[in-house]
Amino acid sequence: MYNSIVLVKQVPDTSNISGQVMKEDGTVNRAKLPAIFNNEDKVALELALQVKETFGGKITALTMGPPRASDVLRECLFMGADEAYLITDRKFAGADTLATSYVLSEAIKKIGNFDFVFAGRQAIDGDTAQVGPQTAEKLQIPQITYAEKVLDIKNRKARVKKKIDGGYEILETTLPVLITVIKDAAEPRPFSAKRVMAYKGAKSLLELEKLAEGNSLLYVDQLVHEYRSRSLFIPTLTTDDLNVEVERCGVKGSPTKVHTVESVVLAGGEPVRIENSKAGMSNLIDELMKDHIFG
Ligand SMILES: Cc1cc2nc3c(=O)[nH]c(=O)nc-3n(C[C@H](O)[C@H](O)[C@H](O)COP(=O)(O)OP(=O)(O)OC[C@H]3O[C@@H](n4cnc5c(N)ncnc54)[C@H](O)[C@@H]3O)c2cc1C
Repeated sequence: MYNSIVLVKQVPDTSNISGQVMKEDGTVNRAKLPAIFNNEDKVALELALQVKETFGGKITALTMGPPRASDVLRECLFMGADEAYLITDRKFAGADTLATSYVLSEAIKKIGNFDFVFAGRQAIDGDTAQVGPQTAEKLQIPQITYAEKVLDIKNRKARVKKKIDGGYEILETTLPVLITVIKDAAEPRPFSAKRVMAYKGAKSLLELEKLAEGNSLLYVDQLVHEYRSRSLFIPTLTTDDLNVEVERCGVKGSPTKVHTVESVVLAGGEPVRIENSKAGMSNLIDELMKDHIFG
């Protein structure tokens, strides 16, 4: 049996970014964009599910985000995750990759008992592809990036297929390991209708608090007890629950500042025909040097 933790991120749908989306402090005004499940993270969950199907074990989905990020956690439960944790706190807001990986690594330590951590290679909003590798560094465990498949696991060692330029490599690693997954690695399975029916009512602590608000007959502790007993409770981790230094979290712990985001459209120029001759090649080299592609 091998337990997996899958890092999932709710991302703004950046296919339609406009000027009003950036706030003055350089962070994204996520409320202005529809929120979606980062696609590579669904693929990461698919790989974790394949490991579980072959070898057994438990899958825990984990996200750090605002309260509405519990939507992606419910989707993880619909796909097949066994449990899900929401890491949320105003003090985590505005985190860059350094602060994000710090909090994620502390949450992973808190959950414990894992053999694999799966993450997407990259999130479509920040696009840095740094969170997976930085989290592995902080956990002091090996990492395999650009993974396509976990081939086999024997004697607490896993063999993993990794994409490289023009081909692939097969790497062997000890466990636990953090694996970042590329989007073509697998087709994420659709939600199971049975699981959607079972988990559509799953709620985080914040959602239960909202439910109890203004209803004197509902008590949060009772609701938590009831939802937990029906496996419908999404535990919430805040700064109080994790062994974190607040100075290393959120905006305070983030040296990166994003000033602007531009939508760059790369337009193709007119096609140029190169003569198959010495002079043609020489012209091509001149053009490439002019464009600083050679030089
Ligand atoms: C336009 C823009 C540019 C940015 N540029 C930078 C920059 O240059 N440097 C920088 O440090 N920050 C940058 N940020 C901030 C960055 O988006 C956040 O730090 C974010 O929390 C993580 O970085 P990422 O989106 O690049 O994730 P990536 O490193 O691309 O994500 C890889 C994987 O890590 C996991 N993961 C990432 N975030 C979470 C999460 N919150 N919860 C669970 N799993 C997660 C997912 O599996 C994801 O697929 C930028 C943000 C924006 C909007």
